[in-house]
Amino acid sequence: MSIASNIESLQIDLNPIGVTLVAVSKTKPVEDIQEAYDAGQRVFGENMVQELVEKQEALPKDIQWHLIGHLQTNKVKYIAPFIAMIQSVDSLKVLKEIDKHAKKHDRIIDCLLQVHIADEDTKFGFDHIELIEILRDEAFGQLQNIRIRGLMGIATNTDNEKVVKEEFYEMKMLFDGVKASFFRKVDSFDILSMGMSSDYKLAIEQGGNMVRLGSTVFGKRVIKHYKLKDGKDAKSE
Ligand SMILES: *Cc1c(COP(=O)(O)O)cnc(C)c1O
Repeated sequence: MSIASNIESLQIDLNPIGVTLVAVSKTKPVEDIQEAYDAGQRVFGENMVQELVEKQEALPKDIQWHLIGHLQTNKVKYIAPFIAMIQSVDSLKVLKEIDKHAKKHDRIIDCLLQVHIADEDTKFGFDHIELIEILRDEAFGQLQNIRIRGLMGIATNTDNEKVVKEEFYEMKMLFDGVKASFFRKVDSFDILSMGMSSDYKLAIEQGGNMVRLGSTVFGKRVIKHYKLKDGKDAKSE
């Protein structure tokens, strides 16, 4: 299957049910992204700042870029001028930094709060208590140049469907709870980003409305790290 036909068949499945496809293009060359773009895809996800910036410069300007990987505060400035959404907000500190740089560019940057749902210790994100704490924090209430659009989560990487399903169920409960408690009158709090190539159907079943698909769109990632213009690996930035 070509990238274009993958995009077309995913759009046929996802558009009618109101699920947004984020095509995860990390490690993939700009030619592959252009092919997806030409097939009508406009939302792309990347997890490394420097790789994202290079691709943004090289590709059409109406692409909506989503950052889906951990963001260090000192890198916010590079993406603030153009980023459409930061899905991987995992601290109040980084959120304040995003707000500061968004203000400089006279923008409001859409963000998702990343929630830690997986078993693995290594995944970034807030646990339930931290999430409530940040939403109650006075400093959070004062941020004017960020807009919280919803939550993002990554399920445990396992073949055990029951585990993954329970995690997505928990995410949906958390989303509904946060919505009712903190964003009841905020229509723009409406995104639940969960599901990757291996588990997106389960995520949609459990109420997710944004899926982040890499290999389903572009095929397996054969190289580990994108080569930057200076010849370095994106990973070593
Ligand atoms: C890489 C990545 C994806 C996509 O993974 P696939 O299994 O290729 O679909 C989705 N979300 C995040 C946060 C990722 O880092």
